[in-house]
Amino acid sequence: MKCRLCNSELRDQKSDSQGRKYQICSSCELIQLDKSLWLSDEEEKDRYLLHENSTDNKGYIRYLNNIIQNSFSPYLKPRSRVLDFGCGPEKTWAGLLEDKGYQVSTYDPYFDDQSDWMEDKFDAISAIEVFEHIASPSESLNTLCSCLNPENFLIIRTMLHDSKWNNFSKWWYREDPTHISFYSKATIDFICLKWNLKLIQIIENCEIVLKKI
Ligand SMILES: [Zn+2]
Repeated sequence: MKCRLCNSELRDQKSDSQGRKYQICSSCELIQLDKSLWLSDEEEKDRYLLHENSTDNKGYIRYLNNIIQNSFSPYLKPRSRVLDFGCGPEKTWAGLLEDKGYQVSTYDPYFDDQSDWMEDKFDAISAIEVFEHIASPSESLNTLCSCLNPENFLIIRTMLHDSKWNNFSKWWYREDPTHISFYSKATIDFICLKWNLKLIQIIENCEIVLKKI
């Protein structure tokens, strides 16, 4: 079996205390939930519809505004073109970006499945709480990075693991059954090297700004 990010042979498999199996890549440190435990597309879509990610949720809006303040405003000019990859059913994040004056396109495999954007270029692509759901990160990064020119940004929010199985095996972030791919700082470094990106900042071990070089 090959790593779905770096294509190395996967030799390390571990189980947590509930017997959930994970493949661990010793090369790029991607950890993936065993495919036998992934939800079906229908089950996955139903889970996303349960998320409380609407504009009525004040805590969620505050959280998104923080991301704009920390990871968008310092790097992007007003009117910049942004693709929100994995926009979800409510498009709350895309709406907030539009309110701030960005020109926003959206894509979601379940809720906004069109591919016009793949021929386009963007000043930034955001993937907020998306990468942990991605089955083949390598394919997604190929597509996303083809839509960025040098000096453009890829802004990802996903929680990074600390490379220690003991901590990972007790980590709450794994409990969501739609979370199947987990990255460490070393994984981000690998992504930068392979896709010609430069790490600009990581905030609170989860908010990652990368710049195409
Ligand atoms: Zn790997």
